[in-house]
Amino acid sequence: MIPFLDLKSINARYREELIAAASRVIDSGWYIQGAEVDAFEQEFADYCGTQFCIGVASGLDALILTLRAWKELGRLQQGDEIIVPANTYIASILAITENGLKPVLVDPDETTCNLSVDKTAAAITQNTKAILAVHLYGQLAPMPQLMALAKQHNLLVLEDAAQAHGASLNGKKSGNWGHAAGFSFYPGKNLGALGDGGAVTTNDEVLAQTIRALGNYGSHKKYENDYQGVNSRLDEMQAALLRVKLHFLDRDTRHRQKIALAYAAGIDNNRIVQPIAGSATIEGMANHVFHLYVVRTSDRQALQQHLLDAGIQTLIHYPIPPHQQKAYCSWNQQKYPISERIHQQVLSLPISPVQSDTQTQEIINSCNQYGIREKIDS
Ligand SMILES: *Cc1c(COP(=O)(O)O)cnc(C)c1O
Repeated sequence: MIPFLDLKSINARYREELIAAASRVIDSGWYIQGAEVDAFEQEFADYCGTQFCIGVASGLDALILTLRAWKELGRLQQGDEIIVPANTYIASILAITENGLKPVLVDPDETTCNLSVDKTAAAITQNTKAILAVHLYGQLAPMPQLMALAKQHNLLVLEDAAQAHGASLNGKKSGNWGHAAGFSFYPGKNLGALGDGGAVTTNDEVLAQTIRALGNYGSHKKYENDYQGVNSRLDEMQAALLRVKLHFLDRDTRHRQKIALAYAAGIDNNRIVQPIAGSATIEGMANHVFHLYVVRTSDRQALQQHLLDAGIQTLIHYPIPPHQQKAYCSWNQQKYPISERIHQQVLSLPISPVQSDTQTQEIINSCNQYGIREKIDS
């Protein structure tokens, strides 16, 4: 069986370093807001190229607290419209509604599954105050164009970089394009902790201080509360483990990109639409860190079953669009045709830093056999 993602093998590669880091924390006697978090925040800010990084409890909290901070700072008001791709993971939208802001869902570009600049521009109204740009599947949204649009209309831009650690365009990394960015360190993410974790990156010092206070009961100074905050902090243990894994992130990303190239060049089946061209090059794909390798096909269930029969596990990201979720039942009648098509057709092939060349070749072969055997059978 080729598993979709083998977290045990992924972390086993750094077993000694992880144990040493965990021991350091255990023996320090200091578990919250200490030297490990300080060091990780500095190292991750340096990695992204930003001035500030604030560790929080999850990727969702990173997004929630950034929007909340903009409200506390008077840059957003209750009811303001926030543009967000209609096909994003639900967390992007939860962060908006949690703050009493209004998500304006926009059908994405059908090829990249990211925000389309034209459709974003068309969705801007007098009430639009921000764009939540999601780097879905690990590919940067069109940030130069979105930032230009935002500047023209005086909008804030929050990147949802939960799937895109290290993706870059013209040498500028995810997390350093918008006015702020939210990252997730959920175990399955490209930079994954051994538990929950998240961070905000920004070059805005006032915003950074506000987010830090909001995640710490609303307090800048112990026992003095400026805001009605929450408890949302990255802990010392996760920070120490993440410091180990950050060293290997670029190496792991290159491995993901190599698998993506092999798929793009090797899968040759007109029933399977790939996310990148067969002629793609490693130099040309810095903007995509392949958190997921998502193909599209008209009969997804048949392809998923075909691969499963060959011992290959695949997943669907995501099966139900946000506007069709029970949680947002008042939107259920709305229509986002591109997003709906994407949700019906996408299938994620295995891709991970521990996937071997043999496994990759097996997956390619099996994709190429799809439709051939089925035809003979019938
Ligand atoms: C994982 C993810 C989140 C949420 O991160 P958590 O750490 O799980 O809260 C937000 N947005 C996107 C696009 C994600 O993939």
